[in-house]
Amino acid sequence: MKKVVAVFIMLIMLMGVGTVALAGAPNSTKVSINGKQVTVGLANVIFDGNPIETDIPPIILSDRILVPIRAIGNHLNAEVSWNQQTKEATIKTTSQEIILKVNSPIVTVNGVEKDIPYGVPAILVNDARIMVPLRFVSEVLGCFVDWNQDTYTGIIISQTSEITDISIENSSAMPKINIISTGKLEIKEEYLTEPDRLIIDVHNSKLSVTDESILDSNGNVNFIVDKFPIKSIRAAQFSNAPDTVRIVIDLEKSVGYNISTSDEEKKATISFLNSVQGISSKLVKGREAIVIENSEEPNYNIFTLSNPNRVVIDLLDSKLWTNELKLDVNTEFIKQVRSSQYVSDQSNTIEDKVVRVVLDINENRAIPNIMVDIKGTTMTIFVDEETFDNISYSNLYENGASIKIFAEEETDYLVSYNENSRQMEIKVDKNNIDLENGIVTVNDDYISNIVVNEDEDYKIITFKFKTKINYEVLSDKVDDTINISFEKVQENNGAKLIVIDAGHGGKDPGATSPITKTKEKDLNLKVALKLDQKLRDLGFRTILTRSTDEYIDLYERAEIANRNNADAFISIHFNSHSSSSVSGIQTLYCPAFDSKVKEGDQYPFAEAIHDALLSGLDRNDKGIVKRPELVVIRETKMVAALVELGFLTNAEEAKLIDTDSYHEKAAEAIANGIVNYFNSIGK
Ligand SMILES: [Zn+2]
Repeated sequence: MKKVVAVFIMLIMLMGVGTVALAGAPNSTKVSINGKQVTVGLANVIFDGNPIETDIPPIILSDRILVPIRAIGNHLNAEVSWNQQTKEATIKTTSQEIILKVNSPIVTVNGVEKDIPYGVPAILVNDARIMVPLRFVSEVLGCFVDWNQDTYTGIIISQTSEITDISIENSSAMPKINIISTGKLEIKEEYLTEPDRLIIDVHNSKLSVTDESILDSNGNVNFIVDKFPIKSIRAAQFSNAPDTVRIVIDLEKSVGYNISTSDEEKKATISFLNSVQGISSKLVKGREAIVIENSEEPNYNIFTLSNPNRVVIDLLDSKLWTNELKLDVNTEFIKQVRSSQYVSDQSNTIEDKVVRVVLDINENRAIPNIMVDIKGTTMTIFVDEETFDNISYSNLYENGASIKIFAEEETDYLVSYNENSRQMEIKVDKNNIDLENGIVTVNDDYISNIVVNEDEDYKIITFKFKTKINYEVLSDKVDDTINISFEKVQENNGAKLIVIDAGHGGKDPGATSPITKTKEKDLNLKVALKLDQKLRDLGFRTILTRSTDEYIDLYERAEIANRNNADAFISIHFNSHSSSSVSGIQTLYCPAFDSKVKEGDQYPFAEAIHDALLSGLDRNDKGIVKRPELVVIRETKMVAALVELGFLTNAEEAKLIDTDSYHEKAAEAIANGIVNYFNSIGK
């Protein structure tokens, strides 16, 4: 073994080379390697949950991350030394010794010479810093190494955890699996078919389960569950150094799943998605009904759409048992039932977990009322003219109307009204009221529909108003009848109504910038709120589809505009692209002939907005593009455009679009475009 003299090392480490910013760093920088100026990519490195701090940031060279050798020493408690004569750096722990020679393809590990993997050797940067390949060195020292391509982050975990328990939880119709570890779980999963099974690799972990009832004679986990969808669970030490535990969940059928972590990520829970197993049309208690059989008690959203009339039931966290399903019904109200795995047209991570069931209503029929009854895993949807038993609504007053909700006993309740979406929500303790879930279409001068839903504790009654209202709660704080009267707010009738749609929101973040880490949904909302103010200042009336960070269905966004007879609809987004060189402004629209509901030529509006954006923002012109598959611009009756105000994936633009002055200019430009459009059509 070579002897190494550790004399010059600290001296070299302390020689300054100027500072290079780490956080929010540009994605490339110039450094000197072997006396040559080279442009290299920048990376982030996280050691056991903490970002490393070095004066020269981690760099990417030939697809490998290199870090200053000192960083490895600091974080892994290794002794680092440098021999100036031989140009060799040594990293030593109690069990491992690695010698790297600058620019040499040969490395010595515990006295054995070998080729350095991937051909990226240790290098001398800016004549002062030894940088070494991160993955190779970390793995030799027994760490688990992972790479996040989105954020250019190398993740190093040095401590091995122990998996102490794998158990079944029966808190819902389908069993869940809990994995308990002594440390943060690093999980990589893969779903395999024929036979269906879910493979979960837990990195940097030792299997250390003590519950003998689930262990076989070799000390591996192996037990039969036999409760849909799980057949059995097996787990064993898959590899040592790096330590990986492999857990195999044998499944009865193809099924969707979710993995969530809790308890400082020391506990992972695998739950299975509701699987929609059958949809049929039946008479239930003499009433026309659609029956959906599930594997789990379903969560759902329900709403109605017109032109043509249809009722949409979205089953959340669900997978369709078969492929698309179509059912000819031909009853009094329903023509057919269609169901499919819902594919959202805007990229997000939730779309493949929604089963959308659409009831197409007979052409000569108004939208029927829908009552939903869930008993265990069976969902029965009644389709007829029945209304809610304990809600009465009267519009026979001169200037207003009133709502009465009858509770079983005296109860407190919560009334809230959102002026932007024009929805009133009333929450009543579930135990105090007898009310079926469903949707009743009213469609008079005031209300489009009434929806009753529930969460764990409350019945939630939502009134969707067509106009802005003033309301008064007439009942007592605690009362057996909730009594609310309301009247229309006279709105400035000459003023145009613009619906402003901040794209994405809530559980749907939209794109995330790999450069600034900013989420698209937040930028969209900032611009939307500024635009709202500007349009109001200009005398327009406005409605925001969302004014907070919340998730709103795409069809609901279009419905808000339609139900309020808006004059224009503008959806605000930011863009992303797999190539970081792409930048600029794009305006999307749906030609009237590609839509069943659109009235009038759509291009002039898109053009007016696009021109104003180009002159106001001075960015690349990515054009005006037809995108009829986008719900919000297709399902809105009025002129509509979706603006993409710049690329989150372009280094220069990502930073620019994250500034308040850019949001201000963008809002100003859109407002100008809207004014220009209405001037040009002479209205
Ligand atoms: Zn978007």
